[in-house]
Amino acid sequence: MIRCSIGTAKVLGLKSLKIDALPTTAYLMAGEKCHFNCAFCAQARESTARADLLSRVSWPLYPWKKVAEGLAGLSLRPARNSAPEEVSLQRICFQVIQDQEALEQVKDWVRDLSQHSLIPVCVSAGPKSLDEVKELLALGVDHVSIALDAATPTVFARVKDGSWEKRYALLLEGAQHFPGHLATHLIVGLGESEEEMIRLIQDLQDHGITIALFAFTPVRGTRMEHMTPPALPHYRRVQAAHYLIRSGAARAEQFSFEGGKLNDFGLRDEELHALLQDGEAFRTSGCSGCNRPYYNETPGEELYNYPQTLQPEEIEQAWLRLFE
Ligand code: SF4
Repeated sequence: MIRCSIGTAKVLGLKSLKIDALPTTAYLMAGEKCHFNCAFCAQARESTARADLLSRVSWPLYPWKKVAEGLAGLSLRPARNSAPEEVSLQRICFQVIQDQEALEQVKDWVRDLSQHSLIPVCVSAGPKSLDEVKELLALGVDHVSIALDAATPTVFARVKDGSWEKRYALLLEGAQHFPGHLATHLIVGLGESEEEMIRLIQDLQDHGITIALFAFTPVRGTRMEHMTPPALPHYRRVQAAHYLIRSGAARAEQFSFEGGKLNDFGLRDEELHALLQDGEAFRTSGCSGCNRPYYNETPGEELYNYPQTLQPEEIEQAWLRLFE
């Protein structure tokens, strides 16, 4: 059995539900009850959150055979700007909890998929050595994601298990040996400043590591259930900085910060507006084809990460947030 995000289950024809943004990546989760005890995570060792939750999303269980058949039947189609009914899957992402048995199971599933599907596969797990990264890539995995989550070792020590330094070193080593195949997840709002997050983004980008930004989302039953998510202006500035950095339009060194807050992008207003006017900066970031609908968001509220092309009024709203 494997857990499938509820939106993925809909795309695979396993669940019928009304949804306004379909995932363009199949999100699959392996394992239950992580060995680690991250303060924000529903799957953490001591979390009392529902077992079928990861962030805000529920992940029902399905037999692997059914999921694999659904994936094998889907073709690659352009995701960006497609009408919802035309959207198909661009990528398959296995989220693996910290558990060796779960990782071994995922390797079998990746082998199985390679016989039937051409869709690129990501494995978001916690490999401990370069050999483990190498083994996953040798199976045909396109991206191995090692989540740093926290922007600094100090924040990491407060909210996560394991070592920030070791994960960072393995990311850099992996990126050096396998350029273009390493990714990481960063969570905005765990207690870091905008400056700390943006300087790390520049550093990871300089090493060719793909970055997926998340907004901290309090989940009932976790140690951080009573904490508040990041303010939207804070998140928008980090998103905009990430976009400018990854597109090569600006570097963190030209930004100005005051008390940790980004207060100047080092660009003329018209220049900044032109760079951000298509709203791309505010869309979900990470591997190509990954849109994670409603992963951090409450339906009906302003979205942290837009899973599809923004409407003009959403772009305007996001732009104005940068200066709040
Ligand atoms: S960016 Fe998306 S596809 Fe890539 S590892 Fe993260 S969740 Fe998976």
